[in-house]
Amino acid sequence: MMATTHVFAGLAVVAPIAYLVPEFAATLAIGSILGGLAPDFDLVLAHRRTLHFPVAGLAVAVPAVVLATVAPSSLTLALAAFAVAAWLHAASDSIGGGPEMDPWNDRSERAVYDHVRGRWIRPRRWIRYDGAPEDAALAIALAIPALLVFDGRFTAVIVGGVTVSLVYALCRRRLVAWTPDWLE
Ligand SMILES: [Zn+2]
Repeated sequence: MMATTHVFAGLAVVAPIAYLVPEFAATLAIGSILGGLAPDFDLVLAHRRTLHFPVAGLAVAVPAVVLATVAPSSLTLALAAFAVAAWLHAASDSIGGGPEMDPWNDRSERAVYDHVRGRWIRPRRWIRYDGAPEDAALAIALAIPALLVFDGRFTAVIVGGVTVSLVYALCRRRLVAWTPDWLE
């Protein structure tokens, strides 16, 4: 899935909480945006392994949510939003495709690494590849609750993210031809 889909998924999760406690809306938004993006910083390391914790991430997310519930503050809510969005990103990578740039000719059976069982989870391909039409549709659907709840500067960020998603999805198949071999 696209990075923007992961970000919008995190925002959709925190949107109802931000609606209930608007004084923490900005904190929740920033925490979930960073958490949605963070796992893919392992692109330069072992992608979908070093910073992706589809199973173990839950062991961090649950206590973080409990802590934020019993002791709500900007810090605990930001950490909880970050942990939940990062776990959701890693877990949901398993319902997408593999990390390959060219899923039409080169298919990988490695969706995301499960550190607990010490093996790769295979891609379910409910979202066939990042930037697929269903990925763009999911990104837009997930962006709606965030657009309704968050205001001001976040509206600009969300609308910008939707625009980037649509452009990427429209160009996705052509990107393969434009990518030099050494980058794949
Ligand atoms: Zn990922």
